[in-house]
Amino acid sequence: MSAPGYQVAIVGAGPSGLAVATELRRLGVERVVVIERESAAGGIPRHCGHSPFGMREFHRLLRGPGYARRLAKQAVDFGVELKLSTTVIGIGPQGRLVLSSDLGREEISAQRVVICTGNRELPRAARLVSGSRPLGVMTTGALQVMTYQKRRIPFRRPVIVGSELVAFSALLTCRHFGIRPVAMLEREARITAWRAAALLPPLLGTQLLTDTRLEAILGGERVSGVEIRQGGSRSRHIDCDGVVFSGSFVAESSLVRPSHLQLVAASNGPVVDQYNRCSDPDYFACGNLLHPVDTAGWCWAEGRRLARHIKASLGDELAAPDRAVEISCNSPAIRYFTPQRIVTTGDPRQARASCLQIRFVDNRRGRLLLRSGERILAQRQVNAHREQRILMRLPNLAGLPASGSLTLDFEPA
Ligand SMILES: Cc1cc2nc3c(=O)[nH]c(=O)nc-3n(C[C@H](O)[C@H](O)[C@H](O)COP(=O)(O)OP(=O)(O)OC[C@H]3O[C@@H](n4cnc5c(N)ncnc54)[C@H](O)[C@@H]3O)c2cc1C
Repeated sequence: MSAPGYQVAIVGAGPSGLAVATELRRLGVERVVVIERESAAGGIPRHCGHSPFGMREFHRLLRGPGYARRLAKQAVDFGVELKLSTTVIGIGPQGRLVLSSDLGREEISAQRVVICTGNRELPRAARLVSGSRPLGVMTTGALQVMTYQKRRIPFRRPVIVGSELVAFSALLTCRHFGIRPVAMLEREARITAWRAAALLPPLLGTQLLTDTRLEAILGGERVSGVEIRQGGSRSRHIDCDGVVFSGSFVAESSLVRPSHLQLVAASNGPVVDQYNRCSDPDYFACGNLLHPVDTAGWCWAEGRRLARHIKASLGDELAAPDRAVEISCNSPAIRYFTPQRIVTTGDPRQARASCLQIRFVDNRRGRLLLRSGERILAQRQVNAHREQRILMRLPNLAGLPASGSLTLDFEPA
């Protein structure tokens, strides 16, 4: 069945999708729909039962589920239509979406579509960890769904693999349910989150083991232990009854991968310009689909900014995408960057406010350079650690070539 068209359809009701939708309505755009596969809106914060969420958005400290409910209520109050328990299973030119729900298959169309499908952690299989295949091995996301939403306790003494912010989210989740992680393992010499966070695990009775690799998971039906190797020493055994894999975030790109949109090989997310516009100019993308992983507040703020560009695009006031420079990068140190195109016409104030967001494969010190041939257009020193967001301000439009390509490079210190 074909339903009437919307002005804007948004796929994914996480913080970024809800922010785009609410702001579009606030700006006066009619007929805005958000399509969400889960039975409630709010995205990942729905199952992060801890704080801090909401300072930027509501100027108060909230836990994830309360924050998610507020975002959803605000969207509905502003007149956003929410289609819950509905999965978008296909996208096509002219803003055509194929939806699937208990009611069956449905097609809708919208003048503009925004893909906000977020990100997820790499599961065990993709991390090539050897050993047996017992029960009790999961990602932080799965742990949070099981505990906060299903009220199930999967283990009592797990190890947590990783040390970026979401690993601390796993630690807090465990503590909330009386689970006492025995160790947190980080393969680098320092933790990935802010240094001060290293004080937390020992305070909570969890060993923090840096420079440590997980070599194997052991157990029969359930996990009975893990083999780890710290630095150059011999491998040793830790008794535990579960393993939580955190971090190693990847874009939730199942929807865009088979679509007509051009993709970034490095991240599997869609190619976008500085207005978050995809290769099909009716499509935009936002949130952690483009830059796994950033905080809810960051994704929400990006969604609000994007709404302004979409409003301008509906009124034919956004710079046309035809004249643009492509940014390429051959540095093995850089995991991904976004945007990959800069439209060189239009309002210079919009472009001046834009930044390249960059992530490194591991901890790196050196200089980032954006070049046009031999000419350096932008540069900055970095002392980056894995998973840290690095921003580099884009040059003024007047300083860019009208077309052609730019190179993003990294010179180690
Ligand atoms: C396990 C985990 C824990 C985290 N903990 C924190 C934390 O404590 N604090 C923090 O600030 N950040 C945390 N983050 C980062 C988190 O990604 C951001 O907070 C924020 O949720 C990103 O918002 P988003 O809108 O980009 O994506 P998401 O919140 O992931 O929302 C994407 C939405 O799209 C929906 N969706 C996907 N595909 C489809 C489809 N085909 N059809 C319909 N709907 C679809 C999903 O169901 C989801 O609701 C965590 C991330 C992970 C993976």
